[in-house]
Amino acid sequence: MANAIAPQPGIMDIALYQGGAAKIAGRTDAIKLSSNENPFGPSEKARDAVIRAAHSLHRYPNTDHASLRQAIGEVHGLDPDRIICGVGSDEIIHFLCQAYAGPETEVLFTEHGFLMYRISALAAGATPVSVREHERVTDIDALIAGATERTRLIFVANPNNPTGTMIGLADLERLARAVPQAILVIDSAYADYVDDYDGGAELAGRLPNVVMTRTFSKIYGLGGLRVGWGYAPREIIDVLNRIRGPFNLSNVALEGAEAAVRDQDYITRCRSENARMRAWLAEALAEKGVPSDTSCGNFILARFADTATAEACDAYLQTEGLLVRRVAGYGLPHCLRITVGDEASCRRVAHVIGMFMTERA
Ligand code: PMP
Repeated sequence: MANAIAPQPGIMDIALYQGGAAKIAGRTDAIKLSSNENPFGPSEKARDAVIRAAHSLHRYPNTDHASLRQAIGEVHGLDPDRIICGVGSDEIIHFLCQAYAGPETEVLFTEHGFLMYRISALAAGATPVSVREHERVTDIDALIAGATERTRLIFVANPNNPTGTMIGLADLERLARAVPQAILVIDSAYADYVDDYDGGAELAGRLPNVVMTRTFSKIYGLGGLRVGWGYAPREIIDVLNRIRGPFNLSNVALEGAEAAVRDQDYITRCRSENARMRAWLAEALAEKGVPSDTSCGNFILARFADTATAEACDAYLQTEGLLVRRVAGYGLPHCLRITVGDEASCRRVAHVIGMFMTERA
């Protein structure tokens, strides 16, 4: 296009986000294991709250999210004044980059880290810097070595997507202390799948440069509602609230998320069912010659001999009506990420991968 107005530097370096396909063309019966969704959906209480909220659609939502923050605070034992809510945790990541990154600064993350870190860093005009992992595990020493005086943000997902691996909080504390010029963001999107784990909340409560982000999209089964939140020192919350649009969350989102977080019995059931089927699926795949690392999330990263085999398996699964996630964009072209579905879906995907491996042998 002639005379197009050029966007800010960095914007055209952003590759359009390639989400997992939602459908297989021509099939209505596909089993979707590509987006780490909760196969059981949200709690009934959350569904009911969403329907009730439809009666107030003519009203603008509350701008301060006080009631949702109060509920999150009660459930997690956190100070509601140190919580910020956003349109998915994606929006919290965006806020952090807009507020703390920019030209002449660097945003650090790991080579198999979540794609939004790079997108948000570039959108803010910052330089994204990725460091190697060690055998698909976050390498704290590599992150410390990768930091410079320009580093303003460090993103670590724990458990990490798509590797499923996780590191200890003592290591994260060591990182935050070693790089005081930057904010360490502990992305805890999958923390709800880990027993007895606070997702880094205590650390974010204690250190001045640690933020924890969480989401309603995974174990809460509310990816379509778009709600996430962050927990941070008050000074950081104050900064982020200045750039947050006043009506970023709808009435429906606020009501649904509040009911969801108050129904922890449902979350406990989902966590244990996920652990049961995750162990089953990992073992079933290993028996068929497809190894994976121990996963702490609601997905398994299945490793194949090479990229061609992973691609061929993905194509085979699609012909059999199964959608999983290719993770070449995460630097793992020889792997497929498979969401832990309900028991029938897990059995089906293991069976079909078994057929593929037998035919390939
Ligand atoms: N962090 C990680 C590691 C993720 O995998 C995801 C979702 N894929 C998100 C953050 C963002 O989730 P949401 O915006 O739906 O809260």
